[in-house]
Amino acid sequence: MLEPFQTHEVFNQSPPFQDVNLFTTDAALKEAVSREGAAHAVPGLMKFGAICGSTEALEQARLANENPPRLLGFDSTGARLDVVEYHPAYHALMQISIGQGLHSSAWDHLAEPGGVRRPGAHVERSAGCYLANQMEAGHQCPITMTNAAVPTLLLAPELAAQWLPKILARSYDTSLRPVVAKRGVTLGMGMTEKQGGTDVRANTTRAEPVGRPGPGAEYLITGHKWFMSAPMSDAFLVLAQAPGGLSSFLLPRVLPDGSRNQLRFQRLKDKLGNRSNASSEVEFQAAHGWLIGEEGRGVASIMEMVTLTRLDCAVASAGLMRLALANAIHHCRHRRVFQKHLIDQPLMQQVLADMALDVEAATALALRLARAFDRAEDKSEAAWRRLMTPVTKYWVCKMGPALGYEALECLGGNGYVEAGLAARLYRELPLNAIWEGSGNVMALDLLRVLEREPETFERVLEGLATDAGGEAPLRAELARLRSLRQDPARLLARGRDVIEGLALLAAGALLRAAAPSSVADAFLATRFSRTGGRSYGQGLAGADTRAIVDRALAG
Ligand SMILES: Cc1cc2nc3c(=O)[nH]c(=O)nc-3n(C[C@H](O)[C@H](O)[C@H](O)COP(=O)(O)OP(=O)(O)OC[C@H]3O[C@@H](n4cnc5c(N)ncnc54)[C@H](O)[C@@H]3O)c2cc1C
Repeated sequence: MLEPFQTHEVFNQSPPFQDVNLFTTDAALKEAVSREGAAHAVPGLMKFGAICGSTEALEQARLANENPPRLLGFDSTGARLDVVEYHPAYHALMQISIGQGLHSSAWDHLAEPGGVRRPGAHVERSAGCYLANQMEAGHQCPITMTNAAVPTLLLAPELAAQWLPKILARSYDTSLRPVVAKRGVTLGMGMTEKQGGTDVRANTTRAEPVGRPGPGAEYLITGHKWFMSAPMSDAFLVLAQAPGGLSSFLLPRVLPDGSRNQLRFQRLKDKLGNRSNASSEVEFQAAHGWLIGEEGRGVASIMEMVTLTRLDCAVASAGLMRLALANAIHHCRHRRVFQKHLIDQPLMQQVLADMALDVEAATALALRLARAFDRAEDKSEAAWRRLMTPVTKYWVCKMGPALGYEALECLGGNGYVEAGLAARLYRELPLNAIWEGSGNVMALDLLRVLEREPETFERVLEGLATDAGGEAPLRAELARLRSLRQDPARLLARGRDVIEGLALLAAGALLRAAAPSSVADAFLATRFSRTGGRSYGQGLAGADTRAIVDRALAG
């Protein structure tokens, strides 16, 4: 007889997707890391891949998202606190990523005067971020911002001398102390205001010099920011209107004398996803900031930072797409329907393979872009970096949400509930497309290159023409893009067409050159037909879908 409530046996449910080495099971990532110049990093990434996919780390990720940060505005006596309290799991995740150096390893060479960057440093770091985003995406926000802030900080040598050694340290130090007393620091940024995020020139926050104005000088900053994430960062790069125009400032949380800077957090955003990360609304009342670069050159000063964050957005979305796919494949390998595993059902195999093609493309594009950051002194690589940063950011981040949704559907009802990865990934994926330049802004940035630096466009296209060889779909796309460029009157309205065309062309050329023929053939056969279906799982009738899916998740 059954015990009370022993009503049934649980079977035919897939085990949780955990204790997976996220690096060694990912052939596309492993190959891209070596191809793009960071083969030396493979042993370290193998270890890190095991950590990121471990049961323990994924449990920390769950806890950090189910227990989001809280703003403690006041203490029990009513005095201002302006502190954000995170769950210990968030701190554990930060410790892992900072210990791995993801917040600054690309700048390790700056530790010594005349130091030379380790070859492949950006590729190595990007591969680490790709893995860490799969562990947990929210905590990667301050990791990205700290890394990206370095070139801007270098424009202010006196500030850099103080802050850089603490950025380069592998210590996560949450104490509220002045920079000199800290073991390690993280940086955030505040650009977006209520009246304008993309259009930062509309910023109304003001900066008045305390004494003599100029680079490195102290100013008092008054105004607000509508989004300022990771508010417990040690300092923020902030845009404000100085007498000479929009300018960049370093605004520390704690001042050199140990007192707190004049920041007041109004509230934390209640967000669709990205729950472990706090995003604040903040006001500054005569807060102390130090000018970076010249007055009026604020946008120019932060441009390098913005470019680096765009690389990270593409890397992060590629990683999240891969996790969504791997989780779906894992489920379909275990779940049986109508006497067959889901993975063996022809329609499901088409859907999974089709998604795998986009993940292959996203991974290849993101790591290829990272290489261009490593080798920017080479003219062709500098051209790739300039042209392909908006292109890669646009395409990879745009593909993510649709893929996240389809991967969720592969799990059926289990995909739609919060216990499991799929729902969190689905809520996270739209974010990378929004911040650091939303879709149209990326398309406009690309058109700016076409208008002002036609030689950059031509240089990249020449390289792609060589890589395309005799492949008919790639040659046709090249010709189409060249003809679109000849027609400036129509170009503005066709920005998304051009940017997507360039992304597919580059991805097709990369996959043709480096991926197995099962992947490259299927990509070329399906991604350049303008008449194909718009949902996953179509047009792959002649493809080796089994090989494509097996490659996407080894084991
Ligand atoms: C979770 C989260 C965290 C964030 N954290 C930070 C942070 O830490 N620091 C910070 O500074 N900001 C942060 N942001 C803000 C983010 O960077 C902005 O939301 C983003 O830059 C867009 O600005 P906006 O919201 O003002 O939208 P808008 O600039 O109003 O844009 C709205 C839409 O219009 C489009 N658009 C804009 N210009 C054009 C044009 N000329 N032609 C056609 N279309 C156009 C955009 O692509 C977008 O789709 C965060 C946002 C989110 C969601």
